[in-house]
Order: sequence, then structure tokens, then C-alpha cells
Amino acid sequence: MNKIPEQICNSINLGLVILDAEFKVHYWNQWMEMNSGIPAGDITGSVLFDYFPNLNNRKFLRNCKSIFAFGNFCFLSQKLHHYIFPFRPVSSFGLQFDYMQQSCSIFPIRNGNEKIEYICITVRDVTEIVAYEHKLLDATRRDYLTGSFNRKYLEDKLREEFERHRRYGAPLCLIIFDIDNFKNVNDSCGHLYGDFVLREVVARVASGLRTTDILARYGGEEFCGILPETSLKSAIEVAERFRESIASEEYRFHGHSRKITISLGVAALDKNITNTDMFFKKADDALYTAKREGKNKVRSADH
Ligand code: GH3
Ligand code: MG
Ligand code: MG
Repeated sequence: MNKIPEQICNSINLGLVILDAEFKVHYWNQWMEMNSGIPAGDITGSVLFDYFPNLNNRKFLRNCKSIFAFGNFCFLSQKLHHYIFPFRPVSSFGLQFDYMQQSCSIFPIRNGNEKIEYICITVRDVTEIVAYEHKLLDATRRDYLTGSFNRKYLEDKLREEFERHRRYGAPLCLIIFDIDNFKNVNDSCGHLYGDFVLREVVARVASGLRTTDILARYGGEEFCGILPETSLKSAIEVAERFRESIASEEYRFHGHSRKITISLGVAALDKNITNTDMFFKKADDALYTAKREGKNKVRSADH
């Protein structure tokens, strides 16, 4: 390669790989050397799949063969493919990923006779961007004060689980709970203490949920748990456990200390419930029964 293009190809913050029609490596730049740990001198002349067997799949082969045949361009977004080359993430942003997230392109390289002699693969590390995307997406789904999910996410998830129940008949339960006498908590200990109680209650309830359960703030001091694959009997037991764990301790913060209780309503999805509003109302009615019957109680629509 000419000296100037050679320097550019080796200094660019991008992986560059050139393959011939037999998938033998013709060029491997420094970025690829650094991230793979494979020196260009070792891999050049070898079939790529000897080093990266994961690429010997129908999809990759079809893409490359089509470029050799038709000269088209191919873009492989991290959204669909996540990566082509299984490299470790290089920055701390990538801790949540097993592999560096890559946005790749493949395009033809023609010789003097316009014949496609090689294909070039470019590999861009987009792990940091994907990590920010995930963070941003998570922020749009969460309630700022408590870290639980927000109402929009609750409604989206509830519709999703409702449809799944309709299609596959898996049991689904809803628990709605509300902090008892919370206005009085704020009035006597202040709003900062009230905020502390909200965060504590969420942390305690969340620690008792499965990873497939969703806990969301419906509004004010009212929260909702979606429990997929859970029978009414189990959901009532879960709700009772929450009630006990919240009521069992004093909540101490900035010189204030008091007991907190919650009231809970539980509902199971059945064939008489035809939409998510009806499902929600059923659990909410049970919550109001719990309030009416003295608070610090679990009630369900069918028990
Ligand atoms: P009940 O036992 O019947 O539920 O009575 P309650 O006092 O808990 O219910 P009410 O609806 O009268 O009061 C709810 C209070 O929750 C009023 C409102 O100021 C407070 N609240 C709502 N959101 C927040 C918040 O983010 N932080 C704090 N500190 N208070 C909040
Ligand atoms: Mg309340
Ligand atoms: Mg309320």
C-alpha cells in the first residue's frame, strides 16, 4: 500500500479488514490488531473463519457473496446484530456488555478492470453510544424520586402482559398499594421526610419482587406491581409479605421517626376482564376495601 493511505488506514479509529473471494484476509489494520490481539502478520493470508468461526454463518456469507456478485453496500447496525467481531469492550462504558457493540459496513473493492476483487469491512465501536442510549431509555421509563418505573411504562407493560395472557393464558396479577395517612406524614414530619418514606417503601417492596415483576409509581403515594405467571393465591401472599415488611420497622430520617403502613388491593386477570382499565379498577376497588376496613390490610376482589 502507498505510504500515505497506509498511515491513514492504521491511525483511523475504525477497524478495516479486506477479504478476497475465498474469505482470506488481505488487509488487517492496526485497530483490528489492537482489539483482536491478532497481529496482521499472523492473520494475513488465512481464511477469516479460522480465527472467527462465529462469522462462518449463512447470513454473513450471503451478505458477502451478494457484494462480490452485485457490488452492493451492506450496513450491519448494532441494533440488530450487536457486533460482528467478538471483541471485549474497551471503556468502562462497556461494562454492561459482554462484547463491544459494533456498527459495520461491507463494500466492494474493484481492480483496474472494474472486477470486484475484494470486499472491505469497516468496524466502528459504538459501545459508548449504545450505553448512553440504554441509560436514556431507562430514564424515560423511571420515576425520578423513587427509581421505580413510571406510569407510562406501567401502562405499556400492562397492555403487553394483558395481550400475552390473552394469547397464551398465563396467569397475571396486579397489586396496587397506597401509603396510609401519608398526608399526615408530610404534615407532621415535612415533605423531605415524606420523600424519604416513598424511596424506602419502594426499596423494600422492590427487594421482594422477582426480576420479571414490574413495580411502578402510579401517582403520588400510590404504586402498582405487575406480577406475571402468578396465581391470585401467590399474589395475595406476596402482598401480605409487603404489608408486613413495611409495617415492621420505624422509618428514621433527619430526627423524625415513625411507623408507616400501606394498604393493598390484589386482582387476578380472568375472562370477564376485557381491557386493562377494568383490570386496574378491580385491583383499585380491592385497595379501597382495604382502606375502608381499617388500612394496613390486603384485600382482593375475589376473596
Ligand atoms: P389514605 O390513608 O386514605 O391513603 O390517606 P392519605 O393521607 O395517604 O391520602 P391523601 O390522598 O389525602 O394524601 C396523599 C398525600 O401524598 C398528599 C400529597 O401531598 C402526598 N404526596 C404525593 N406525592 C408526593 C411526593 O412526591 N412527595 C411527598 N413528600 N408527598 C407526596
Ligand atoms: Mg394514602
Ligand atoms: Mg393515594
